[in-house]
Amino acid sequence: MEENKKNLNFIELIVEKDLAKGLNEGRIQTRFPPEPNGYLHIGHAKAICMDFGIAQKYDGICNLRFDDTNPTKEDVEYVDSIMEDIQWLGYHWENIYYASDYFPQLWNFAIQLIQAGKAYIDEQSAEEIARQKGSPTQAGTLSPYRDRPIEESLKLFHQMNEGLIPEGKMALRAKIDMASPNMHFRDPIIYRVIHYPHHRTGTQWRAYPMYDFAHGQSDYFEGVTHSICTLEFEVHRPLYDWFIDELKIMRPEDGDYRPRQFEFNRLNLTYTIMSKRKLLQLVQEGLVNGWDDPRMPTLTGLRRRGYTPESIHNFIHKIGYTKFEALIDIALLEHSVREDLNGKAKRVSAVIDPLKLTIVNYPEGKIERMEAVNNPEDESMGSHEIAFTRELWIEREDFMETAPPKFFRMAPGQEVRLKNAYIVRCTGFKKDANGNIEEIFAEYDPQTKSGTPESKRKVKGTLHWVSVPYSIPAEVRLYDRLFKIENPAEEKDFRECLNPNSLAIKTNARVEKELETAQPFDSFQFQRLGYFNVDPDSTENRLIFNRTVSLKDSKNK
Ligand code: ATP
Ligand code: MG
Repeated sequence: MEENKKNLNFIELIVEKDLAKGLNEGRIQTRFPPEPNGYLHIGHAKAICMDFGIAQKYDGICNLRFDDTNPTKEDVEYVDSIMEDIQWLGYHWENIYYASDYFPQLWNFAIQLIQAGKAYIDEQSAEEIARQKGSPTQAGTLSPYRDRPIEESLKLFHQMNEGLIPEGKMALRAKIDMASPNMHFRDPIIYRVIHYPHHRTGTQWRAYPMYDFAHGQSDYFEGVTHSICTLEFEVHRPLYDWFIDELKIMRPEDGDYRPRQFEFNRLNLTYTIMSKRKLLQLVQEGLVNGWDDPRMPTLTGLRRRGYTPESIHNFIHKIGYTKFEALIDIALLEHSVREDLNGKAKRVSAVIDPLKLTIVNYPEGKIERMEAVNNPEDESMGSHEIAFTRELWIEREDFMETAPPKFFRMAPGQEVRLKNAYIVRCTGFKKDANGNIEEIFAEYDPQTKSGTPESKRKVKGTLHWVSVPYSIPAEVRLYDRLFKIENPAEEKDFRECLNPNSLAIKTNARVEKELETAQPFDSFQFQRLGYFNVDPDSTENRLIFNRTVSLKDSKNK
């Protein structure tokens, strides 16, 4: 037991203590509370693994709650994608809730605050209110509307909701403490006017609660025991607690129960950004090809790129949960998917930039079926056959007319092994009118067939290849990091640091015939080139592959 404790993260330790104390009669309830204003990213996966993971581990429940308090930014498209992504990660929610379901309760609570003299309608602009906030060391200025009669505030609050008040002309503020060292206590705005239909409640409401006025109370209405979120909400916690205290005065029947909030460090990754607002900008301005662009840090983008749920779980487990902000090297994420696919992906051959190789002493029309092991890490995956013929495709960069001493690939007079086949010696090449290499010639040594007893000779280089008649055309999309600098979030304009070479499309690739039946999202290792998966844009006649990740970290190449 003591041993085990060492492997627990700090929130699991808290939960175990609470269970030992019998808090909330041993009930564990968490929630994942996204705002449906964009697609989920890898940072959200960290929160999801925590919220759902805790419930799973301690026999509790985790609900999915959409914090939909800002209709202008939210949409059902996002609601649907969020549900799909959570399920893809392998989690199941107990219930789906929406903060908008609580609009009536929140409205009544706001009315009660006004009646208790703890909230008032301010007619100043948001800018004016912000100017009067003061600074952490200097008290703010009291609003001239702060002590207006309760009846007046009540009447105006109703008018706000009836559509009689233009946006920005009035707001409901909690009357707390304009001198509090916590800026969130300086009469925060709790309701504002929005004349834009809500994706669920339509035009029923015109006065909308602020996120801070909805979040903690939603937890309370649902019976959340552990409200887990990221560190930036730590300073909001006392305000959430204040609202709950006020709410409890009105609901004495609820006894001792209250949700408690715990904060962990958010995930930041190098060479990418983690803000939904900025990701939306990339999509809207056409700087990427949609939310599921394989360069995006979104879960839908990572899935399309070939990431597996297991690779994401392993990554989240490796980085862990702490109270310290950090910037995680994206190479760690790439390592996780490489590690996972290494054990799972079938090895096949593909040539991205094909150059013809003719084996001049190999009979025309002859076909040999060579055995290709599917995965050397897992014998149970078996093997498949790959056709060997007189005409082959090899990688253009695997040939050099005049090679330096350490170039152990194809060059005139030099020997190389063709993977799963024979040793061949390059005997010449042909150039086109522009001086480009058009074709290479070689002779094979029949005594060197892979896997046969007579094949004793060894050569330094092994090349991958596919047969000209027994390969099929494909498009291959090679990805690099989305940004050219480590921390684009810190720049004035993150768009200026986009990596112009983040996508290279190769339209003439050839892949072995075995891949004819490959389905969207299937993953493979292309020998020597990396892990690739089938893009859903593929058609029956045209396969498209995405490079998920190269075989080695580029820094160590
Ligand atoms: P963004 O900053 O990208 O707009 P957000 O915090 O506004 O994200 P929400 O939809 O409110 O997005 O987030 C839902 C949950 O996911 C919250 O509990 C939030 O703390 C958590 N979360 C968001 N971003 C990260 C991150 N980078 N790392 C860990 N958790 C995150
Ligand atoms: Mg948020």
